Amino acid sequence: MLFSTDFLTKLFPNHKGVVEDDLPILQVTTDSREKTKKSLFVPLKGDSFDGHDFIKDAFTNGAVAILWEKDRKLPSFLPTQFPVFFVEDTLQALQQLAHRYRWLVNPIVIGVTGSNGKTTTKDIIGSVLETKYKTYRTEGNYNNHIGLPLTILSMARDTEVLVVEMGMNHFGEIELLSKIANPNFAVITNIGESHIEFLGSREGIAQAKTEIVAGLDQKGTLYIDGDERLLEGLHSNDNVVTIGFKENNDLFINNYQMNATSSSFHLDDDSFELNMLGKHNVKNAAFAIAIAKKLDVSKEQIQSALNKLTLTGMRFELIKGKNNATIINDAYNASPTSMKASIEIIKQMTSYQKKVLVLGDMFEMGQQSQELHRSVVDAISSDIDVVYTIGSDSKVISDEVAKLFPTAKSMHFDDKEKLIPQLVSILNGQTVVLLKASRGMKLESIVEALR
Ligand code: ATP
Ligand code: MG
Repeated sequence: MLFSTDFLTKLFPNHKGVVEDDLPILQVTTDSREKTKKSLFVPLKGDSFDGHDFIKDAFTNGAVAILWEKDRKLPSFLPTQFPVFFVEDTLQALQQLAHRYRWLVNPIVIGVTGSNGKTTTKDIIGSVLETKYKTYRTEGNYNNHIGLPLTILSMARDTEVLVVEMGMNHFGEIELLSKIANPNFAVITNIGESHIEFLGSREGIAQAKTEIVAGLDQKGTLYIDGDERLLEGLHSNDNVVTIGFKENNDLFINNYQMNATSSSFHLDDDSFELNMLGKHNVKNAAFAIAIAKKLDVSKEQIQSALNKLTLTGMRFELIKGKNNATIINDAYNASPTSMKASIEIIKQMTSYQKKVLVLGDMFEMGQQSQELHRSVVDAISSDIDVVYTIGSDSKVISDEVAKLFPTAKSMHFDDKEKLIPQLVSILNGQTVVLLKASRGMKLESIVEALR
């Protein structure tokens, strides 16, 4: 049980149909099609739909109580004793309910934001803390103004640790999420360029991520990417811990080494191994280690979790492809920062003789799109043998590579059907291929063709 109608009557005093006896609520849902058990249905309004119109489905599928926009006519089929809670705005009410439930359960809450690495870091933190605590975390990428409240409202009553991802593309959104979740620990993984279209500049992005302090518990701690210049303004705060590869960080990552399928590193004096590749993932793991230590998880427990991490799909996923080539499916998403981070890993994969990049368009880059696509070339060096770009804005990358590294083969394609046979023709057992672009480019269809 999450809570009973009693909890709702206190929160939403304007109601009808609530009988004396407490009615247990097992679930909160906003999707009327979902088969539920004893759920509270929250009808939300979108651009092209209104959940209030689907109340009949929700009722048939197991809703035993509803939130309802006040002043709106109730459908006549509802039994008179059916509990209805009238609210001004159902979305705000959902957020308010989640906030109250967070405090009813009162677990240790960890909020993760940043331009890249939120899901990865959330999952590493969850896996590490799970070794000691009853832990619940955001499923997949459910990180916005609806997904975060629903995440909170899905945790069991005996949850000891809740890890939530907080995403955004406009100012004010992280502040809202942070005030709903009131994290005890907050993380800003990095500052990149994602959603720069709406936030104007990297400075704007840093400012928007910093909004996470708005809801941070008074005694809470904020962990930040200490290598990021734009977060330097936070360094002097008492409740801020900096983590990174620069020596002046509060927690200093050193002795980083990339192995065939893992990374090893020290965090201050403790050594760890992580079953993921790349410096950025080591930093993501360092956030988890820092928080785990604060919560008295032993070094052995931390290490055992780091050995067993399972990655969410399409994030630097290693696959054996045609002609025994190694294909790296990193097609989940991309921004210039994350694209450069992945290229850095490929450059260090010295056991391959041929290193191939297949880079697609990155979306939501606004007016600076050309410049931001071009910036990816900064990570490319003569260690890279082939650069294929796909889409439209990414063309500038292959054009620049042609100028700067004439020995590398570079080519632009506007169509996957043309790219695939060309790519297949160069694969062999000594080849590693990185595929990366924005989600909308759906590069996984190329991955399938290379299997
Ligand atoms: P989204 O905004 O789509 O929810 P996210 O922030 O949750 O993304 P992840 O899904 O964890 O990010 O990772 C997406 C990609 O970002 C990874 O495949 C990787 O290329 C890159 N990445 C992960 N961590 C970092 C980091 N700390 N710095 C830079 N790039 C990173
Ligand atoms: Mg995510």
